[in-house]
Amino acid sequence: MKSTLIALILITGCLWAGTPITLVLHGGAGAERKKLSPEKEAACRAVLNEALHKGYDILKQGGSSEQAVISSIMVLEDSPLFNAGRGAALTRDGIVELDASLMVGHSGLAGAVANVHGVRNPILLAQKVMLRTPHVLMIGEGAENLARQEKLEFEAPEWFITPEQKERLERAKKKDLPKGAYIPVPGRDSSLLMGTVGAVALDKNGNLAAGTSTGGLAGKLPGRVGDSPVIGAGTYAENGVCAVSCTGHGEFFIRNAVAYDVAARMKYANATLKDATHTIINDKLKKLDARGGLIAVDAKGNVSTPFNSEGMFHARMGPDGVAYIAVFEE
Ligand code: ASP
Repeated sequence: MKSTLIALILITGCLWAGTPITLVLHGGAGAERKKLSPEKEAACRAVLNEALHKGYDILKQGGSSEQAVISSIMVLEDSPLFNAGRGAALTRDGIVELDASLMVGHSGLAGAVANVHGVRNPILLAQKVMLRTPHVLMIGEGAENLARQEKLEFEAPEWFITPEQKERLERAKKKDLPKGAYIPVPGRDSSLLMGTVGAVALDKNGNLAAGTSTGGLAGKLPGRVGDSPVIGAGTYAENGVCAVSCTGHGEFFIRNAVAYDVAARMKYANATLKDATHTIINDKLKKLDARGGLIAVDAKGNVSTPFNSEGMFHARMGPDGVAYIAVFEE
């Protein structure tokens, strides 16, 4: 009896030690010191804190990383302060076109949507694509029809548009529009292009998940799709390896398959999470003058949050349950 009890305690201990529940969030890599007022920073931190607790509570109660990622992202989508859902960046024509994706590491399944209008929480629609269809990526009208079929919430176009994003678009339009759209100038104007949200999590069963949601780049051409809904570029999760969510100048993240590159370096070159993520963000992308960052967690609960822009809103909570929120320092 006694030995059975000891064995049980040991097994429970090992299981706990092997799966340190962890949640990491980002609110985009566009934060710039001179443009971020103390009030705005405090407001953004408060929303991140709320999103962090929402997701972490799920993990603490034994819930899945998939559910934690979705719940946290929904808080950020509903906040007008971040470039996702309400408060999303506007296209060159002043409309909101939303992209989102979700990937779960235990099954390798993924779902994503691009160019959707009116869907309040695109991350929920990405989950529906994953669970209810044989597809990975759905766009526009077809994706919106699925949202209706699944009874997801819709909002009027004006609900998504904030004065701040209107002003951001005006600033973008004042710049040169050489190819009919605002083209981010490498190393400058970060605040015009970023603000995407993302989450990665490790649950008590060792399952990893990643999700990303965005309005894309301010001043983008209608129909433009960035990295956020592209599995392997903006989002990736694989059990035993890592979960990654990116933010930044999406065209570079697509061309460099950034999220998958983190996993590939770990799998094939035995890189640590820290080495893989830092090499990509601070070496590979920096050399290309590509601005952005990412959040990542590995199968052991190690966390990495590198960015090569001035700031990136990010937050994390590990097994100790202590919230860490930062903007300009990693
Ligand atoms: N990566 C997003 C995109 O290119 C933008 C962002 O991260 O803010 O659509």
